Amino acid sequence: TLPREYHESHRSVMVHEALQYLLTRDDGVYVDCTLGEGGHTKAIIEATSARSTVIGLDVDAEVLALAERKLRDIQGNVRLFNVSYLDFDVVLGSLGINRVDGFLLDLGVSTYQLKARGRGFSYEVDEPLDMRMNLSNPVKAVDIVNKYSERELAKVIFEYGDEKRFSRRIARSIVKRRPIQTTFELVEAIRAALPPEERHKRKRHFATRTFQALRIEVNKELEVIRNTLEKIPGYLNPGGRVVVITFHSLEDRTVKHAFREKKGIELKILTKKPVVPSEEEVRENPRARSAKLRAAERI
Ligand code: SAM
Repeated sequence: TLPREYHESHRSVMVHEALQYLLTRDDGVYVDCTLGEGGHTKAIIEATSARSTVIGLDVDAEVLALAERKLRDIQGNVRLFNVSYLDFDVVLGSLGINRVDGFLLDLGVSTYQLKARGRGFSYEVDEPLDMRMNLSNPVKAVDIVNKYSERELAKVIFEYGDEKRFSRRIARSIVKRRPIQTTFELVEAIRAALPPEERHKRKRHFATRTFQALRIEVNKELEVIRNTLEKIPGYLNPGGRVVVITFHSLEDRTVKHAFREKKGIELKILTKKPVVPSEEEVRENPRARSAKLRAAERI
């Protein structure tokens, strides 16, 4: 049984495009670095007529338990591990595998993390501020919000939230309202820092950027992506692919730069510009609207 109430299911993004770039052989071994609810993994197994193997990783033990249940029918084709994808090499080592045919990373949060009770990722429900993907990580969002200096907070919000004009005001408002314990208390601090016309003109909820910034800081997301992409080419068979789906510009930039550093040395870039989802997909799944996919091939 799952530890929390959860009645939805994650809709995988850009499945068709991801498989088109990722799959080079039916009997390949692929690493799904961000297993989530296993949507992409399942699609890989189906598209390869159950001849491939997927090594699925997720740092979130609760999400992994959910995936285990959802992938029961194809358990012979998958090996699942509750680890950070940063440690994919340790997993491959433990399986005696030196190289694989592809890596898939579908970044960001899964629907479970946003919607299951009490994970503290969402500005839409009032819960203790948490935002950890790895539940044994000692640092929660609540610690950052209450312990960082005003300057440090402003920097996190500026850099990771792309909150260029108002990061300082938001940081000041947070510091003034400490201690902040819940998502709604944080939303209130952000609301108070933004002029009403600014709040209203934004296409997305006014708390989105600050919540994104804290999530990135709690989970050290950009660092983890950078260090993982640095290692991946050394574990790909020649002709093997790495495919990354991102959901905001900071992630996309990180991927673009990581690929570029290996360009002509270990990698051939397959997507000059990032691939975006079809209009139809965006219409059916609004979460897809900011998705961008980049792919590269091991030389
Ligand atoms: N592709 C999945 C599907 O089709 O169901 C959804 C993936 S979801 C967008 C991203 C997942 O990556 C989350 O479940 C999250 O826990 C996981 N994740 C985030 N950081 C991670 C890390 N460092 N290592 C492993 N998994 C991570």
